[in-house]
Amino acid sequence: MPILRFQALQDVQHRSIQVPKEEGLRSLSYNQHVFGEQSMRQHLPKSAFENVTEAIHKGRKIDRITADAVASGMKAWALEKGATHYTHWFQPLTGATAEKHDAFFEITTDGHIIEKFDGAQLVQQEPDASSFPNGGIRNTFEARGYTAWDPTSPAFVYGTTLCIPTVFVAYTGEALDYKTPLLKALQEVDVAATDVARYFDKNVGKVHATLGWEQEFFLIDSALAAARPDIELTGRTLLGHASAKGQQLDDHYFGSIPSRVLTYLKQLEQECLLLGIPIKTRHNEVAPNQFEIAPIFEEVNLAVDHNSLLMDVMQKVAERHYFKVLFHEKPFEGVNGSGKHNNWSLATDTGINLLSPGTTPMKNLQFLTFFINTIKAVHSYEELLRASIASAGNDHRLGANEAPPGIISVFIGSQLTQVLDELEKVTDGKLSPQEKTDLKLNVIGKIPEILLDNTDRNRTSPFAFTGNKFEFRAVGATANCAHPMTVLNAIVASQLKAFKKEVDALINDSSMKKDDAIFNVLREYIKESRNIRFEGDGYGAVWEKEAKKRGLSHHRNTPDALEEKISKRAITLFESLGVMNAVEIQARYEIEIEEYIKRVQIESRVLGDVARNHIIPTALRYQNVLITNVKGLKEIYGDDVYVSLAKEQVNIIKEISEHIASLNACITEMTEARKKANQMKLVQKSKAYCNMVLPYLQKIRRHCDKLELLVEDELWPLPKYRELLFVN
Ligand code: ADP
Ligand code: MG
Repeated sequence: MPILRFQALQDVQHRSIQVPKEEGLRSLSYNQHVFGEQSMRQHLPKSAFENVTEAIHKGRKIDRITADAVASGMKAWALEKGATHYTHWFQPLTGATAEKHDAFFEITTDGHIIEKFDGAQLVQQEPDASSFPNGGIRNTFEARGYTAWDPTSPAFVYGTTLCIPTVFVAYTGEALDYKTPLLKALQEVDVAATDVARYFDKNVGKVHATLGWEQEFFLIDSALAAARPDIELTGRTLLGHASAKGQQLDDHYFGSIPSRVLTYLKQLEQECLLLGIPIKTRHNEVAPNQFEIAPIFEEVNLAVDHNSLLMDVMQKVAERHYFKVLFHEKPFEGVNGSGKHNNWSLATDTGINLLSPGTTPMKNLQFLTFFINTIKAVHSYEELLRASIASAGNDHRLGANEAPPGIISVFIGSQLTQVLDELEKVTDGKLSPQEKTDLKLNVIGKIPEILLDNTDRNRTSPFAFTGNKFEFRAVGATANCAHPMTVLNAIVASQLKAFKKEVDALINDSSMKKDDAIFNVLREYIKESRNIRFEGDGYGAVWEKEAKKRGLSHHRNTPDALEEKISKRAITLFESLGVMNAVEIQARYEIEIEEYIKRVQIESRVLGDVARNHIIPTALRYQNVLITNVKGLKEIYGDDVYVSLAKEQVNIIKEISEHIASLNACITEMTEARKKANQMKLVQKSKAYCNMVLPYLQKIRRHCDKLELLVEDELWPLPKYRELLFVN
């Protein structure tokens, strides 16, 4: 039988690229498959339209009559778009999206066939979701789960299915998904930030958090991917010797996009636009076959849904182009991994980006207030932020040489550092008129010009200020953004509430003027959060030492990092904000620990199988070729001469045997380590998988990779790095 690898390489050579036609202006396709404001206006009675938009903007409940009207309009619209089914679309704690399609088709009691979809079906469903992870919530409470419509994220038609974004909750009220706590955190940050923004502008009625993610990924030909069991089952390569050429020449980054990839991206963008995902940017990333796409930023809840939807659409469109998308944080050893930078800011309903410096000193004081409060929040909860991005995949990326380390720090650039240094000197108590004028002219007034030349972007920082937003870079490419976004918005909400309290106290108790009070509180925050700010190289060992001195946490792996999630501080934070209760927090912690264990377990099993069933037999086959050769030489030349002629072959025969012996030993030991770990309780088990099982993956890989260099290319069954990374 021909080796799958060579068949795959043949397939790749014969792929024909069908260039899709660009249909008109892209702005014309945007949102065409989304039941957004425009479609609602066209398909809903006026009163229903007004009720539903008010519910969306003001967070009001939707009554049954409105729900029926919306359902009826939504159905008519969806049928026009060719939908045959509808589904509640939600994000269970697996991190993926879930859907269960029901046909509109219905038979009435008197035998008529109709297309049915009413308010009840729109608002609430009860999927049999007993197989979703729930961390014991539903066992404890013997509760069933239901999905409920989230009107703030519009319904859309994908393929022939009307998808209705929903939350997923237990009947006892505990959230069983990622969206519910996110919505609560966003609600909290809205309230807290609005209160603070009103110090500066009484017209502010609402603040929404914004998110612009950047999705990195690898594209591999699907035939090559199918010839690699590790990629198929774990999303990454567990073995494979480095290609002679990798990313050393930096010739891929921002280079011209390969035409086959561009064709894929164009079709992907078209589908995204129809679904309302505003993709704007596409480019090659640092590693060969690695790319990035990024949208125009949106309100966080919508942006999170859009990212989850995008990941699904990317895989589906890829199938049509014979690509497989790898979202794994580290699919290839020795080349860059993939992240998902989360660009985040706060915007008012008066159209102001609160993290963008303004044109007047007062607006800049507002900017500084939100800027410094965010830094303070990150300082107070750096460990929780670290925990929010922990995963088995991201462990391979954090701290590797191209990614931010597992230490959270904030980069703000040298000029803003100077501004904060100046503000730190502000007088304790009331400020003199002279001091205020000075501050306005020389410190605060200067900010806009400063930022324009602030091009110094430190790529090594996990949390960087980039001119008018913070960029959380440590997020992994597979992550559901809801995770880090829930934490970030919750900690900022909590911080802004504390700030408001302190400022009000100074105004009321010490009869300070508002801006004096603000300056005083900010001064203290700058001092208190100094340790989280770091402008240097975040990748070096020097920073590790320094961070330790500063008392910053450094968790190198997921089991350690996750512990903070169930700390007293974290529980107090989430409970006080009403974002999650202790049961929900514990459940999520357990689910994530379990997921970690399962991922490492699967990787360990897959590598064990591949090494024993693919690599060792291949090595033996080649060894036999050599043995035959040596025997032949002996036959022809006789005992004396053949020894020198067959010297190298004999060495290789021996080397192969040594690797096989070590491989076998490692695989057996790894299996034993797994068996031991499996006897342990959850948390201990995760640590055993991390410390006792995972190291074997590296050892086994070393031997396999050495064998790859020894064995004849024709016999090697798995596509090699050079093929995976350079063929397309
Ligand atoms: P870079 O790779 O240099 O960080 P990109 O252009 O790739 O920059 O990404 C910038 C991202 O930041 C985009 O997704 C964009 O939508 C987002 N962004 C810009 N302004 C904001 C904002 N105010 N709030 C949230 N995200 C923003
Ligand atoms: Mg980028």
